[in-house]
Amino acid sequence: MGIEVVLLDGDRRFRTSPDAGERDCVCSRCGQVIAGEEVAIRAWPAGGGYELRYHVGCVELRVDGGMDLGARLFSWTEEVD
Ligand SMILES: [Zn+2]
Repeated sequence: MGIEVVLLDGDRRFRTSPDAGERDCVCSRCGQVIAGEEVAIRAWPAGGGYELRYHVGCVELRVDGGMDLGARLFSWTEEVD
């Protein structure tokens, strides 16, 4: 059993893989820079030759095409209402 990233058609694809905190390390989903103190969640679709990366709060994860885990589980920087 593995965890996979849910990809959306609008997600940006990147040929480069800059570290978090670099100016061109932007999120595939929201387009904002992923700051140095944040964790970039990265995905490399098989045979794609490109990378997708997300803020912890932007990524959607699920277990091998089954249960949706929900990004909030992994968003430890998010304030609880
Ligand atoms: Zn984002």
